[in-house]
Amino acid sequence: LDLPVTTDEILTTDVHLVQSWADLNALKQNGARTAIVAAEGSYVTDSEGNKLIDGIGGLWCVNVGHKRAEIIDAVTDQLNTLDFYSTFYSFTHPAAAALAEKLAQLAPGNLNKVHFGNSGSVANETAVRVLHHYYKRLGRPKKRMVLSRHGAYHGSTHLAIAMTTPGYSEGWHKAEGVVHHLAKPHFWREGDGMTEPEFLDSLMADMKASIESIGAENIACFIGEPIMGAGGVIVPPAGYHRRAAELCARYDIKVISDEVVTSFGRLGHFFASRDLFDFQPDIITTAKGLTSGYQPLSATIFADEVHEVISAPGAMFTHGMTYSGHPAAAAAGLANIALMERDDLPGQVQTTGKLFENTLRGLADLDIVGEVRGSHFMMGIELVKDKATKAMFDPDLNIGMRVAQAAQKRGLVARPLGNILILSPVLILTPAQIAEVGGILRDSIAEVMDDLA
Ligand code: PLP
Repeated sequence: LDLPVTTDEILTTDVHLVQSWADLNALKQNGARTAIVAAEGSYVTDSEGNKLIDGIGGLWCVNVGHKRAEIIDAVTDQLNTLDFYSTFYSFTHPAAAALAEKLAQLAPGNLNKVHFGNSGSVANETAVRVLHHYYKRLGRPKKRMVLSRHGAYHGSTHLAIAMTTPGYSEGWHKAEGVVHHLAKPHFWREGDGMTEPEFLDSLMADMKASIESIGAENIACFIGEPIMGAGGVIVPPAGYHRRAAELCARYDIKVISDEVVTSFGRLGHFFASRDLFDFQPDIITTAKGLTSGYQPLSATIFADEVHEVISAPGAMFTHGMTYSGHPAAAAAGLANIALMERDDLPGQVQTTGKLFENTLRGLADLDIVGEVRGSHFMMGIELVKDKATKAMFDPDLNIGMRVAQAAQKRGLVARPLGNILILSPVLILTPAQIAEVGGILRDSIAEVMDDLA
């Protein structure tokens, strides 16, 4: 391939590229961009030759680390054998079939049926469409509303963005009248004057009241990330998911656990719903770590009982994408899981991920660090103007971005999200690299504190 090489060549070429989730006007004015040109292990290399620790794992996804020969070889072999065939109509192929079987083994309980897509957004849209179809087939077509939460991120296609927190779709059209947003389960920000168990009770009371006011006969499902990711890495109060699932079961509302980020080792398990949060969803959606990002692939894994209904005689399953179960993507998924199982990566993360979490929690003594939160290799650091009152910085100060830039200068990619810094690194960080990440973050936050003084 004749690709642009130097920073200048790349940035000249990229005027034709529309970046995602970006300030397009700033980019048009030649705003700062980083061109990543290569990657290996825990590091990425930018076009200036700087080697940076990948503190965001691509985008919460490169779980096994970069340039793993086992996955690259599996994808290459698959392309050499069968480059593409679809899973439409009656077609199937070995890679998609084998990966579906593997996911059915790994997913908790009766989640044994897998539909593939190519992004987390699509996996979530599929989950909701499947449930709409399910309830229609049961003769209850009014059951179509979705309960989601403020702070949620479920993707940016038409329905997925409607299920995402409302702030992200301001100024855009989205699917109207299908989604109701429940309260964000963030005790530190929202639980003033309450104990954590009282806060949990208030969330459950709000959920119950919402169900009763909308009418359970109109609600298909509740969708939630076990830990909210792009909403600022929000870990709900202990017992939240179990109680929400119990409430939903009482009202015949299906539970979709959006494990696009939380699965495939990031929290020390293949799936976090049952193993970390003690609840059994009716559907799990996943993407990202499913292939560690080596190929675009997502999966919607649903319960046998749902499949029984949608596969009963008399109706077609009119849903699917050309690349659902793409052979090369399925091969990447199989090789990725084989690698994780061989090295017991989820088991390792129970130690190294805890070390990472505790290292970052150690930054809480810094004056502008309000809360360090998350679990294992999914962490957020909220920066505040005043620790005692939790007062936020003026968004125009771009505090998160300034700390991220200071970190990048020191050799770490971190992701700013307003005043929050997100760290979701590759899961193969060594204890020495974890200590280095902690040191870089401490120095970078201190540098910005000095600037503010
Ligand atoms: N769900 C969650 C929890 C996510 O974090 C994301 C993306 O970050 C998505 C869904 C959407 O996935 P995709 O960007 O692959 O469509």
